[in-house]
Amino acid sequence: MESDPTRMCELLVGLPDVNVLGIDDVVGQPLQVHVELRGSRTGCEACGVFAWVKDRPVVDLVDLPCFGRPTHVLWHKRRLWCPEPSCARGSWTEDELGIAAPRMGMTDRSGRWITEQVGRYARSVNEVAVELGTDWHTINDTLIAYGTALVDDDPDRFGVVEALGLDEVLFCRIGPWRRQEFSTQIVDVGRGQLLDVVPGRSSAGPMAWLAEQGKPWRDQVRYATLDLSGPYRAVFDAMVPDATQVADPFHVVKLANTKLDECRRRVQNETMGHRGHKADPLYRCRRLLTKADERLDDHGREKLLGLLRAGDPKGDVTTMWHAKEAVRALYSHEDSELALEWVERLAADLNDTDYPIEARSLSRTLIRWKHQIAAWHEAHVSNGPTEAVILWRVRSSVFDVADRASFSRRRHILWSASLTSTVLAPA
Ligand SMILES: [Zn+2]
Repeated sequence: MESDPTRMCELLVGLPDVNVLGIDDVVGQPLQVHVELRGSRTGCEACGVFAWVKDRPVVDLVDLPCFGRPTHVLWHKRRLWCPEPSCARGSWTEDELGIAAPRMGMTDRSGRWITEQVGRYARSVNEVAVELGTDWHTINDTLIAYGTALVDDDPDRFGVVEALGLDEVLFCRIGPWRRQEFSTQIVDVGRGQLLDVVPGRSSAGPMAWLAEQGKPWRDQVRYATLDLSGPYRAVFDAMVPDATQVADPFHVVKLANTKLDECRRRVQNETMGHRGHKADPLYRCRRLLTKADERLDDHGREKLLGLLRAGDPKGDVTTMWHAKEAVRALYSHEDSELALEWVERLAADLNDTDYPIEARSLSRTLIRWKHQIAAWHEAHVSNGPTEAVILWRVRSSVFDVADRASFSRRRHILWSASLTSTVLAPA
């Protein structure tokens, strides 16, 4: 057991080769630990002449919390100067990467910790900033610095990707009208790993990204998953023409639910002349309608059918409800040929002129995407779970800023969400 007070203090601070000069304890402020480098590098790096200490700038570094309290390290650096007239070295400031990288506002250990918290554990930048007693920008700058190094140093970090997914995600809202700006996330669907983020939801961004990866990389992609988006389909047609395109079941079922909802609102308006009120039968059954049928108990189903009888005189909503369940039933098939047949028959059935317009619209989409929908049964890859995880991470790490950081700044935060454990190991 160590009982020498100086040594005990050094052990608690835990930084390599520093003298602890003192500690400031101001109520309501982070604890401030003053340190200096032990030993002196007093020889000029250029000529070896004994260097003079010109001044002692103090660098304020955010550190890890100490016993639950935000802590800063105040590093009293030495700025040295070479007095040799014939030497061109001039002055320099001592550095120690074990404490902090040059120009970083935090210690190296907290930089790694932050990257791990946001990257691996998906904590928000804001939350981490509060814990460390600093602001959003300090944390974000650190993530960019550490994240960029990790990402750029490892061009092969993706490895072979067999199932590639594209996903549009709301990136941020801009300006006084909170205009939505979208991004496209490029995902390794097999591993559930975010590979990159490119601006917009058109085909241009992912097209350029895939071009950059090179043909050998693209040739290894066997499955390409997408929502029912034309631009992404164009990307895959052009860039990975041999990959089997797979429509994400989540989006297919979501489309059926959207059509059901459109129909309900239209019928509501036609029969009642106003938008849904809480007493209106169609409004009352809106949640029961989109619920999976097998999750309705007898009471729920009876209630739903009763409300439909009361609010849906022509049976349009009921038709769409059956259509939605039929779309869901697609995914109970095991076989992709059977699934294709099912999609074709369902689409043909829904294309009946007696059916509501929403049914015919759903039918057209099913026809347009029938191969991609049926291919899921062969591939069994889906953006589903990844998407949920990523969306959550994006929201938690990006939407906690009020101002709009540039795209590349946000992109780096997302990147950090895909860092793997190996790159985060201490040096
Ligand atoms: Zn010199």
